[in-house]
Amino acid sequence: MVHIVGAGCGAPDLITLRGERYLEQADVIIYAGSLVNRELLENAKEGCVIHDSSKMTLEETTEIVRKAEESGKMTVRLHTGDPSLYGAIGEQIREFNRLGIKYDITPGVSSFCGAAAALGTEYTLPDVSQTVIITRAEGKTPVPASESLRSLASHKTTMVLFLSTGLLNKVTQELIAGGYSPDTPAAIVYKASWDDEKVCRCTVSTLEETARANGITKTALITVGDFLESSFTRSHLYDPAYPTEYREAKK
Ligand code: SAH
Repeated sequence: MVHIVGAGCGAPDLITLRGERYLEQADVIIYAGSLVNRELLENAKEGCVIHDSSKMTLEETTEIVRKAEESGKMTVRLHTGDPSLYGAIGEQIREFNRLGIKYDITPGVSSFCGAAAALGTEYTLPDVSQTVIITRAEGKTPVPASESLRSLASHKTTMVLFLSTGLLNKVTQELIAGGYSPDTPAAIVYKASWDDEKVCRCTVSTLEETARANGITKTALITVGDFLESSFTRSHLYDPAYPTEYREAKK
């Protein structure tokens, strides 16, 4: 069996208890070496064989899993953040299915959650935005035309951009062309939850210069939207005037 495990976005104690248990039991670990915190590998059992997938192809990682399965060994495929986002697990799962290899998935703390924590804020503020768009700027990996940054920007929601730090000039242009005003608050969150985390607050128009001034070229998320400002109304959830399923309204 292969367990696809989300490592969390950096700090080693952000992995789930289940993910940690699988790591301790694994005979083979294949981890995404570009972003996974290596401290997570310290509790691997003696004899566990560890591979860094950043230096490997899909064919090579699949072959390691296939061989491990043949000899009844358990593999952990350790991905950064949550595996369901930009983790390229879809193509791995297709191979596992083709080869009849059983797998399951253990979620992890995605970096977009780590970034909100670093910002000390909530993405979904009442009457500011109740929607989070998670996307990326188009680079080498194509983005479907119906999801162009410009068209998504027209909703003026909270937006979180992965994998886009090298494309900030274009990001600014597209966000403004789509509808955000140039002075909409934005923040670049570098290495959320790592020891060298950095939070750089700016605006949509100053994204590129802010990244340059702070030497940030990768491992960062771009967050955009008025959620970064503090004026909003309170929620109904904890409002004494509103009853909920668990609490009566106070008169
Ligand atoms: N599955 C991962 C994302 C993998 S794609 C997740 O859920 O977080 C890799 C991209 O994620 C990076 O280029 C960067 O945009 C973002 N990223 C990953 N870890 C990060 C972190 N700790 N802080 C900020 N951005 C991060």
